[in-house]
Amino acid sequence: MKEKGISRRNFIGGALVSAASLGTVGALSACSPQGSGSKETSAVHMQPGQYTNTYVGHWGIFETPVTITVNETAITAIDVPTDRTQYGDTEKIFQACRDRLFPRIIENQSFSVDTITGATISSMGVLQAVRSGLEQALEAGGSDPKAINAFDVVPEKAEEGETEEMNVDVLVVGLGSFGLVAMKRARDALLRETGEACSVWGIDKAGYIGGQSLLTHEMNAVNPPHLVEQRGGEVLVDYDDYLNTWFTDTTGADGTLKCKEEMVRWFFDNSGLANRWLETEEGWEFGSVKDKNDFSESNYAVVFNYFSTNGMDKYSNSNENRRAVKDSWHRKIVAEVEGTGGGILLETEGYEILYDKASNTVTGVKARNTVTGKEYVINAKAVIISTGGFGGNADLMNSLLDPRWAGNWKQNGATQNDGKMIKAGLDIGAGTFNIDMSPITMEIGLPKYLTHFPINFIDGKITARTGRTSTWTYNDIPLYMCVSINSFAVDKTGKRFGNEYAIANGIGTQMPPNAWEVGPYFYSVWSQGQVNQLMEEGFTAVKRTAAYCQQGGFELEVPTPEVQEALDASVESGIAWKADTIEELASAIGADPATLAASVERYNELCAKGSDDDFGKDAEYLVEVGSGPYYAIKAMPVMYGTGGGFDVDEKLRVLKDDHVTPINGFYAIGQDSFGVLCSNELNYLAYGGVCQGYGMTSGFIGGNEAGLYAAGVQA
Ligand SMILES: Cc1cc2nc3c(=O)[nH]c(=O)nc-3n(C[C@H](O)[C@H](O)[C@H](O)COP(=O)(O)OP(=O)(O)OC[C@H]3O[C@@H](n4cnc5c(N)ncnc54)[C@H](O)[C@@H]3O)c2cc1C
Repeated sequence: MKEKGISRRNFIGGALVSAASLGTVGALSACSPQGSGSKETSAVHMQPGQYTNTYVGHWGIFETPVTITVNETAITAIDVPTDRTQYGDTEKIFQACRDRLFPRIIENQSFSVDTITGATISSMGVLQAVRSGLEQALEAGGSDPKAINAFDVVPEKAEEGETEEMNVDVLVVGLGSFGLVAMKRARDALLRETGEACSVWGIDKAGYIGGQSLLTHEMNAVNPPHLVEQRGGEVLVDYDDYLNTWFTDTTGADGTLKCKEEMVRWFFDNSGLANRWLETEEGWEFGSVKDKNDFSESNYAVVFNYFSTNGMDKYSNSNENRRAVKDSWHRKIVAEVEGTGGGILLETEGYEILYDKASNTVTGVKARNTVTGKEYVINAKAVIISTGGFGGNADLMNSLLDPRWAGNWKQNGATQNDGKMIKAGLDIGAGTFNIDMSPITMEIGLPKYLTHFPINFIDGKITARTGRTSTWTYNDIPLYMCVSINSFAVDKTGKRFGNEYAIANGIGTQMPPNAWEVGPYFYSVWSQGQVNQLMEEGFTAVKRTAAYCQQGGFELEVPTPEVQEALDASVESGIAWKADTIEELASAIGADPATLAASVERYNELCAKGSDDDFGKDAEYLVEVGSGPYYAIKAMPVMYGTGGGFDVDEKLRVLKDDHVTPINGFYAIGQDSFGVLCSNELNYLAYGGVCQGYGMTSGFIGGNEAGLYAAGVQA
């Protein structure tokens, strides 16, 4: 056991401090056998050479071969191929495995080291492949099978018990795009005001920077002045028209505004400035301006994609290339911040806010390196949190969201965003705004991928989303049944809850699927007759194929006899149920038999009548639920995280729970305060890029304000 120690670093003003590029990697550690040495091991003798094993990554499509090189007693190298079109996971996320996990495995000679937060699926796959390689090498070398336990060692936390105290000007917790933008803006403000080196630091619990923004590319901004100028003064969107639409959409059933009016106006006045700054001063590229402002016909107001669609060729038509460029912008910010006395710490998690109640001032954050166990007390003149909400924390979701949204949601965002800083803010009396709103959902998914059918590759074609060879597979059949408008959908009690078109596709400004209304899952119910029709006619009523949740899809509107096989396999794998009667089906899925039977009866009445008097689905999609057997497929709206968070003012200062008094030195941006633009009766405002638009604008303004505050220039 190490002795407890406290070291101090001062980063306020004065001398420049050089920091390790892209984060400080914690000291590596001593190892102890798994389970306190309880596992019996035996002498290690491996057949030197290379051993390759594969794992299937995030999309459930591409295998990644992991090759270990060993000598007689140790792993000496780990390699994965660099041909992205055929292999691997999202590159910028996998890079964290190369940078951190591979050295960690070799240093500790262990497949039981900590995974990389934010790259858990890749890490687990690599660790399993390393284990398999070691088992093969040991067997080839004539070792006893128990020898594998020599590599099953959990490293001790090398710096556990040590505490480092740091004094900085501004600390940013959470380094997605917006945390990084806030760092840059705080640093610029401090340099401008004080004219000397300043210490702006950032921490992130993940093993890489970029957060969810590494995956995304759409940002909403209202009439950026430089673009209006380029267009000879012609605006991109009618300001008042757009604003009124926003207010109409966020007016609740009781007739009151559910968003925070002054913050929506603030967004309208500042998002264009953020866009201009990024484009004209920071070198970020935007394009593909959708400037439709006919709200009755379009979901979009004015959206800027990173990179223009026309310019996609420049990036080889692949999101992976675009992510790489975006990552380079992120790294440029880090380099600039490091160059003037700041820096970042990765795999370092903030968990407590230091708060002086008497002066109502946040004075810093407690954090810890999740790998080495080292504790940090980071005293800061200003703290900005940008931790992406609390979608990764089921307990917080259940306690903070409206009870309708309780339960375990499927997530396609940053599962590490577990709300520790939200909890810490609540603990010091921070006020919230729309924190109870539904999680933000975009897609429909299944509890897990079906793996029954092969994945087929389409040579020469690249899918932009994955950056890899395109695929098609009948494994997507149950998913497409759930998003088919011909389906009959019920909530967990067995009650039909909406127009199946909207459930799968969303309607109007609620473009994300409306399935979120009934919580984390619902059921798509089919009779054998409907299934037979699908097989004969194919999928004629699928409009939106839930891109992030599918594995390539298959041809629509052609006979698809594979449907029956897919359904049987779905039942087998536990994502669907089959029964002879509706009542039995209800019992199988835990719904109320009488409720489901009544829903079917009512739906069939509407089908016979040719008019969906209950929810207004077009008559062409009303297909009767005929005789049995019956099937129910479990469908899950897929969230990327929570939207509601702290109440903030126009400077992004967090307000106390009186909703008036700012907490000195405390700022919340991105999804940690996005609720101010939203309604807690909706799950999102899908004008296009609203989340990123808010994130970018709040980082732009909040970072500057925190910098000015730390410089002592203003409150
Ligand atoms: C697949 C996908 C597609 C999307 N498409 C769009 C789109 O087209 N348009 C749009 O507007 N939005 C889109 N979004 C949403 C948008 O990307 C997010 O709203 C936005 O990136 C959130 O930014 P953030 O900084 O609030 O959180 P994040 O980007 O998630 O960053 C939070 C960071 O904080 C770190 N962190 C969390 N807790 C701690 C802690 N306690 N201590 C230290 N670090 C911590 C995390 O590791 C993470 O790096 C999409 C999201 C996904 C997942």
